[in-house]
Amino acid sequence: MMQCIEDVWFLRRDLVSGGYDAALAYLKRFIPLEIHEIPSGTRCWTWTIPEKWSVDEAYIEEAESGRRMLDAKDHPLHVISYSLPVDAEVTREELLRHIITNPARPHAIPFGYKYYDRDWGFCMQHDRLGEFTKDKYRVVIRSSFEKGTLKVGCCTIPGEAKETVALIAHLCHPAMVNDDLCGVAVAAKLAQELAHQKNRYTYQVFFLPETIGSIAYLSTHKNAIRHMACGIFLEMLGNDNIHALQLSRQGNTRWDRIARYVLRRSGKEFREGPFRMVVGNDEMVWNGPGVDIPTISVSRFPYPEYHTSDDTPSIISLERLQESKELIATMLRVLDRDYIPKRTFTGPVFLSGYGLWIKLEENRELNRKMEQVMLRLEGDRSVFDIADELDLEFEYLLRYLDAYHSNGLITKMPMKNRA
Ligand SMILES: [Zn+2]
Repeated sequence: MMQCIEDVWFLRRDLVSGGYDAALAYLKRFIPLEIHEIPSGTRCWTWTIPEKWSVDEAYIEEAESGRRMLDAKDHPLHVISYSLPVDAEVTREELLRHIITNPARPHAIPFGYKYYDRDWGFCMQHDRLGEFTKDKYRVVIRSSFEKGTLKVGCCTIPGEAKETVALIAHLCHPAMVNDDLCGVAVAAKLAQELAHQKNRYTYQVFFLPETIGSIAYLSTHKNAIRHMACGIFLEMLGNDNIHALQLSRQGNTRWDRIARYVLRRSGKEFREGPFRMVVGNDEMVWNGPGVDIPTISVSRFPYPEYHTSDDTPSIISLERLQESKELIATMLRVLDRDYIPKRTFTGPVFLSGYGLWIKLEENRELNRKMEQVMLRLEGDRSVFDIADELDLEFEYLLRYLDAYHSNGLITKMPMKNRA
């Protein structure tokens, strides 16, 4: 995960760009990816796929002395993404209208983008504004717009069922790490792990440019939507903050409850909020009007370096990424293995006679709740529902009920696949 981040983070990964394509090609070396290409200008629902944007040079000079004040060579964030080309002499006032700074983080370069409003501009450290004392400046941005293709990378891991769980992370954002290469790295690792196990659901792991990539894919794969059981947006998972769970638009699906249960059982502090109230991202597309796949988001938002040049590898750690990866893997495992147990027995089961008596020292929680489990095998709730209700460890309960099953005391009824 760290290697992937180190290798691609400084690339100019704009929505449709050479840097983005290079990052996707890099990922393809480690996981099998099908790459869907949607040409610039394609109408996707109410949106249009942007052109491919490149920038060769971008700088500001004092008009008289020619002294270079700012150069995108020093940092990709110095030029606003999708800036129009410009080569002009402008007044200080005019220049300042085209400069973005972040007064709350004055030493850092903010991330500026103008994907859809045609304009030009620069981003710089707020602290440096005082250096611009002259009346006239020369501004140069040698950028170009051309027809290209927006690329969505998708790794499909087929399961027993056609119903699909979507894992989504965005690969765009030049020279930033936590947002969202951290989501990409965790998603890539999960894809590798899922490929090595037997799954009930089919999994699709998507790497795409934020928002427009999801729109481009879903609007051109309408049939895929029918098979989508649920989704998870992974982002900003490397910084040192507690997890933030954002629920789906539905808010109380089994998938929402599983995510909350796993976070709660982890014993670590986390926060939770309704749809679009924690962080805004591609779930607005996946769980949006006319699509409506229950899509949660797991992040460690907020963090102070967000959308600035301070979002570098130094603010993240492998430990955090691994912790998030494990939690999400557990959520997927619960979702994938869950079933509905239905009793075949009458009267209370003679537990010790069937080897179903759990000693206190074996599992304290279950020892106190064996009867409560026995009373919940009517076929009206799943293993997860019982674990959640009784606050038991899912894996342990699953094994316990397997012993019921091998004794012929329950049948296993499959879950409906829509989460
Ligand atoms: Zn962002």
